[in-house]
Amino acid sequence: MQQNRIPFNRPHMTGKEIEYIAEAHAGHMLAGDGPFTKRCHAWLEQRTGCSKALLTHSCTAALEMAAVLLDIQPGDEIIMPSYTFVSTANAFVLRGGVPVFVDIREDTLNMDERLIEAAITPRTRAIAPVHYAGIACEMDTIMDIARRHGLQVVEDAAQGVMSRYKGRALGSIGDFGAFSFHETKNVISGEGGALLVNAPAQALRAEIIREKGTDRTRFFRNEVDKYTWQEVGSSFLPGELIAAFLWAQLEEAQSITIDRMASWNRYHQALAPLETQGLLRRPVVPETCQHNAHMYYVLLAPGVHRQAVLSCLRENEISSVFHYVPLHSSPGGLRYGRVHGSMQFTDAQSARLIRLPLWVGLTPEQQDRVVNALTEALT
Ligand SMILES: *Cc1c(COP(=O)(O)O)cnc(C)c1O
Repeated sequence: MQQNRIPFNRPHMTGKEIEYIAEAHAGHMLAGDGPFTKRCHAWLEQRTGCSKALLTHSCTAALEMAAVLLDIQPGDEIIMPSYTFVSTANAFVLRGGVPVFVDIREDTLNMDERLIEAAITPRTRAIAPVHYAGIACEMDTIMDIARRHGLQVVEDAAQGVMSRYKGRALGSIGDFGAFSFHETKNVISGEGGALLVNAPAQALRAEIIREKGTDRTRFFRNEVDKYTWQEVGSSFLPGELIAAFLWAQLEEAQSITIDRMASWNRYHQALAPLETQGLLRRPVVPETCQHNAHMYYVLLAPGVHRQAVLSCLRENEISSVFHYVPLHSSPGGLRYGRVHGSMQFTDAQSARLIRLPLWVGLTPEQQDRVVNALTEALT
């Protein structure tokens, strides 16, 4: 039987994107910080409880802004997982910072909070937890360590829009949080992101850094009579067409999450027998975490040939992919950063992991095909 290919990701459009872009176009509002950007900011502030939300070009840009806000100096150390996207590290490396990689937890694949304290040195300035798969790091412990040692916390919540930890939105718990609206995430604008500023005292500086180091945002609010260069900054704000697209997505963030969650739960149930047989391990979601169904991954049993499994899925026209090559085993990782302690779970789990197709509109029939093909590959 001829079957259609099941892609790994299919960007979901809510239906209002073009209408809102046309509205921005008709209103001759193209530069940043127009009406759609303001709506997105208000939504993010309301939904996360952060004191200031600022749209950026990407999560990468939001992390770079955070590094400027922290005033990272050459040699300053930032503790982070090695099992993450390159931007978590690069944002700080651009300021001369040194990523210090600690191992991840065996269960959630998030940075192991029990290893952070031993990695602290006199040069440590910040901790950058990454909420993998939209499942929160152990933030109470991380915040407690940070406060006791006078460190800042920058949450890489790229995958965490709509996720919560003990009821609090990811990105709103540390000093700063970074969201991504890249087309591979849950809520999208092609490329896009946001910086969440949680300490009210940092909000004005964040606006300045985002507007080329000027107080232009205050000028637009009539708080100053001209705008001038204040400090180091760059252009981090997206134009209104992107914000218009994003607004159509944020309005539907709830229904997007509900749809994805149904698929996530269906996989989780259908794959339980394979876990019982010891052929794979399913994701672990701690009690404290309300996740957003960003990703469904499985960890293949040790010894299973991952490439063979992926090939078998591909032969069944299913696109499944592995994920990060840990930063400490990439050429840039040890050039710009260093490892603290064993990387046993980072190495082991990253080598076993595959991600299954998950997107809004994925049907139960398509999921059955994925589960059947995976079962065939493993048995
Ligand atoms: C996607 C992602 C990023 C980068 O997001 P962009 O918006 O593409 O810059 C950073 N960190 C993590 C953990 C991500 O998943």
